Amino acid sequence: MMRLPLFEFRAPHTLEEAARILDGEGASAMPLAGGTDLLPNMKRRHQVPRTLMSLRHIENLHALRLGDSGSRLGDSGCRLGACVTLSEIAGDPRFRNGLTALAQAASFVATPQIRNMATLGGNLCLDTRCNYYDQSYEWRKSIDFCLKKDGTICWVAPGSPKCMAISSTDTAPALIALGARVRLVSRSEEREVPLAELYNNDGLDYIRRRPNEILAEVLLDSLHGWKSTYWKLRRRGSFDFPVLSVAAAARFSASGVVEDARIVVGSVASRPLVATEAAKFLIGRSLDHEVIAEAAALAARIAKPLDNTDFDMTWRKKVAGEFVSYALRELRGDDLRRERESLTHLPSFLSVP
Ligand SMILES: Cc1cc2nc3c(=O)[nH]c(=O)nc-3n(C[C@H](O)[C@H](O)[C@H](O)COP(=O)(O)OP(=O)(O)OC[C@H]3O[C@@H](n4cnc5c(N)ncnc54)[C@H](O)[C@@H]3O)c2cc1C
Ligand code: SF4
Repeated sequence: MMRLPLFEFRAPHTLEEAARILDGEGASAMPLAGGTDLLPNMKRRHQVPRTLMSLRHIENLHALRLGDSGSRLGDSGCRLGACVTLSEIAGDPRFRNGLTALAQAASFVATPQIRNMATLGGNLCLDTRCNYYDQSYEWRKSIDFCLKKDGTICWVAPGSPKCMAISSTDTAPALIALGARVRLVSRSEEREVPLAELYNNDGLDYIRRRPNEILAEVLLDSLHGWKSTYWKLRRRGSFDFPVLSVAAAARFSASGVVEDARIVVGSVASRPLVATEAAKFLIGRSLDHEVIAEAAALAARIAKPLDNTDFDMTWRKKVAGEFVSYALRELRGDDLRRERESLTHLPSFLSVP
């Protein structure tokens, strides 16, 4: 049985108190939200913080603040506290239309029990993953560890000075496609960062959150007139981390021409990749067969999966284009329930209307 290492436990009741604790403890303290990733990681000695600081009692972090129209969160913009759980997001009917991609991504994370504990902030700060890293301490020791933790060599690319562990968060690609920003709070300052700029393409140094910062909120502007969707590849439809994902969002004119669009490809690098060229190509065009095929080819070009997760990497690269096509076809109104069902068990209320 794997046991947790010893740690001190702090449970502040306000964000100010939490920021003070992190400031005082430095990198030896870590925030604990749902604990569904951090605690297993601690058992495998990936992270061994001297202090765990629970965020659970900070009421503000559980708040879901709406703009002026409360029926559909996306219409008026909203602020989501970092400790809002993935179950709350997946089960709330107001997360539809513009925000459908977020509800879908949240509903695809792990299992219902884990989603009840798992938080949005924890999902956005999720550690990167790799077959050579997500193993017990003894397993990792038997291969003399690796660059990401305790070792000196990358077993995926032995000549590489950089770790290429994979960004495996489901909600980050979705929220980047929705143009989200995050509010980071430390003792001395507060800053807002576009979510797309929170990540580095580096499996070790994957997040630009400073050790003394707490991710307090996710901010979304109005998504009135937008539609969005999220597609995820995983081995088991019941629960598994993504090994490829595509989030797409678009705003259409009355005649069906794309006025604005964003496409994000997840789980093929150490950060979610924004397919800028593909999205730009869509603007001013209707989503006919040729346009979708061209955009899918442009988006797939940026996906460079490596051999450090499930499924063959060449196949994952090939499927990236297919997934972009699915996402765009769904946005234009095609009924892709059959394709969805072959991959996941998506509740029908979560498909793009
Ligand atoms: C069996 C299993 C299957 C899983 N499947 C998936 C999956 O399919 N997709 C997926 O995305 N994830 C998956 N996960 C990982 C995890 O459950 C989720 O990512 C979850 O959302 C993490 O949230 P949490 O609140 O539990 O984070 P925690 O485990 O509490 O924290 C995760 C990290 O974020 C930091 N952190 C948390 N909150 C904050 C904050 N507000 N500010 C600053 N730092 C913070 C922590 O210090 C830690 O480094 C799975 C986990 C398990 C055990
Ligand atoms: S990509 Fe390389 S360094 Fe990073 S976790 Fe995997 S084996 Fe280790």
